[in-house]
Amino acid sequence: MTPTNVALTCPWCFAPANPAPMPQSCARCSKRFTLSAGPALDGSVIAPMPHPHAFPINLKWSILVTYRFAVLEPMGVTSGTLDPVVAVAPIEQTSVGYPDVVSIAVWKKLAIPDLIAGLLVPLPIALLCAWGAIASVTHSVGFGAFMFLLTAGFGLLTWVLFRRGFVVGRRQARIVGRWASFTVPFEKVPAFHSELFRRCGIPAPPIP
Ligand SMILES: [Zn+2]
Repeated sequence: MTPTNVALTCPWCFAPANPAPMPQSCARCSKRFTLSAGPALDGSVIAPMPHPHAFPINLKWSILVTYRFAVLEPMGVTSGTLDPVVAVAPIEQTSVGYPDVVSIAVWKKLAIPDLIAGLLVPLPIALLCAWGAIASVTHSVGFGAFMFLLTAGFGLLTWVLFRRGFVVGRRQARIVGRWASFTVPFEKVPAFHSELFRRCGIPAPPIP
């Protein structure tokens, strides 16, 4: 599919979809996402004049053996692959100027590694400590209290990992330009979302 064919589709299953200011559910796969029309699609969306001193927003993430990156630059957004040795120099990159953005889709996948880590490590320890606290409290209040503190600590760690897995998730932005399209996981830098939309002149939708 060419970039412009992808522009008005569900980012999960590529069923046709229409831009909307709020999160929507796909008619075919019923998964949630936002789809926003950019300046190249909707004449009423006008990218603001670039500020020459606009700060860049950098993102870097790994896919198997290589790293990919995305940067919000003053004139547009660039994404590409970094050299596999020191992961600093781009070996391939494409850019989309903000006025050339056709659409932006945003969605959220479960962060599976965080969920698995939470299930395998702190959750069993928290349950074991809770059992220890209940079993020992009649013999030794001090030891029972100590086990209770451990339960609370590992319980908190479980909560943090589950929150990262379910609530924060792996946030994805699919940026479709006139000639190029790429997807950026941006949960490590939340400002990426608001700045991307602001620089395209699109009112930022809530994250689905
Ligand atoms: Zn779909």
